[in-house]
Amino acid sequence: MSKVIYLDNNATTAVAPEVREAMEPFLTELYGNPSSIHTFGGQVAHPIEEAREQVADLLGAHPTEIIFTSCGTESDSTAIRSALAVAPGRRHILTTRVEHPAVRNLCLALAKEGPGGGYRLTELPVDAEGMLNIADFGNALDDDTAVASVMWANNETGVLFPISEVGALARARGVLFHTDAVQAVGKVPINLADLPVDMLSLSGHKLHAPKGIGALYVRRGTRFSPYLVGGHQERNRRGGTEAVPSIVALGKAAELAKQRLNDEQTRVQAMRDRLEKGLLEKGLGARRNGHPTARLPNTTNISFEFVEGEAILLMLDQHGICASSGSACTTGSLEPSHVLRAMGVPFTAAHGSVRFSLSVYNTEQEMDRVIEVLPPIIRRLREISPFGRDKLAQATP
Ligand code: PLP
Repeated sequence: MSKVIYLDNNATTAVAPEVREAMEPFLTELYGNPSSIHTFGGQVAHPIEEAREQVADLLGAHPTEIIFTSCGTESDSTAIRSALAVAPGRRHILTTRVEHPAVRNLCLALAKEGPGGGYRLTELPVDAEGMLNIADFGNALDDDTAVASVMWANNETGVLFPISEVGALARARGVLFHTDAVQAVGKVPINLADLPVDMLSLSGHKLHAPKGIGALYVRRGTRFSPYLVGGHQERNRRGGTEAVPSIVALGKAAELAKQRLNDEQTRVQAMRDRLEKGLLEKGLGARRNGHPTARLPNTTNISFEFVEGEAILLMLDQHGICASSGSACTTGSLEPSHVLRAMGVPFTAAHGSVRFSLSVYNTEQEMDRVIEVLPPIIRRLREISPFGRDKLAQATP
C-alpha cells in the first residue's frame, strides 16, 4: 500500500518529529523522579516547569494554573467532579447534548448515581447547524447549578460554541464554568486571560504529542478538589509521579502549535475547504453537517444520503485513506451519532456521514486524491444499497 492519507486527526495525531526529539532524553538518560532529593532526579523538575510554561503560553494562562493529567478524559472528570465537590449544596449540572462521551457519560452517570439519588442534569439542545442557543443557556442556569460544562469545539462536526458569551452568563450567576477544549487547543486562538472560563481541558494526542498526556487549566482562585489523591505532585492537585517524557512532549507540542496557529491553520482551512467544496459539488447528494463558518479549520463532516458511513470508510481504507464516521457500531446495530441526532440530521443522512479531520501534515494533493476516489465509491454503494436505488433520483441533482 502506498503512503496512507490520514484524515482522522480529531481521533488522534502523529507525534511531531520535534516533539519526539524533545522527549527522547527523558526516555533514556534522564529517567529520574522529580520528587527525589538527589540531583539526578531533581534535574527533571525544571523541564516539567518549562513545559508548564509552554502550555500556559499557548492558552494565555499562568503556569501555576496548569495541572498535568493523563488525558482529556481525566481532565474532564477532574473538572466536573471538583466543581461538584466544592459546591456540595448544589445539585444541578448544566451541559449540552453534543458533548464528547468524556463529559456526557460522566454527567449521565452522575445523574443516575450521584449522592442523594443523583444530580439534576440539563443537556441543552443544538440547532440544525449544531449551534447552541445562548439564551437557552442563560435560562437554564439557576441557583442550584454547581457546574456548567460546554465544549469549545465539537469533535464530530468541528462546530465552535460561543464560549466567551456562555462563560460570562455562568460567571454572572456565580456558576463554575468548565470547557472541554480538547479539539480546540492548537487549532483556534485561546486567550484565557480575557475569558470567563474557570476550567479547561486539553489532550496531548490531539496536537501532535503522544497519547496518555493531558492538562487541566484551573483559574487562580477557583476552589478545587483533586480527583487523584496521593502524593504532593502538581501542588497537591493531582497525585501520581509525573509522566516526565510526556509532559515535556506536551510542552513542545504546545510551543509548536502556538507557532503554527496563524499561517499553518489558515493553510489547513484552505485544504479543508478545497476538499469540502470538491465533494459537495460532485452531485453525490452530499450535505455538510455543522455551521458553515463557526467551525474548526480542520474539520468537515459530510453526509452521503442512503449509504452507510461504515461502508464508505471501508472502501476508502482500501485506497489508504483514513477517515471516520459519525456512527458507532454497537452490538451489531449501527446507531447514528448522538451529535447528528441532536442536530436533527435525517436518519438516512446521519447513517452516511463521514468526518474528515486534517492536520498541518496533509497536502493539497491528498485532498485531490480523495475528491477523485470518493465519488465512484458513493455511486457503487448506492447501486448495491437496497434503499439507495429508489431514492437516488431524489437525492442527486
Ligand atoms: N473531549 C473531546 C472533545 C474529544 O474529542 C476527546 C477525544 O476524542 C476527549 C475529550 C477525550 O480525550 P482523551 O482521548 O485524551 O481522553
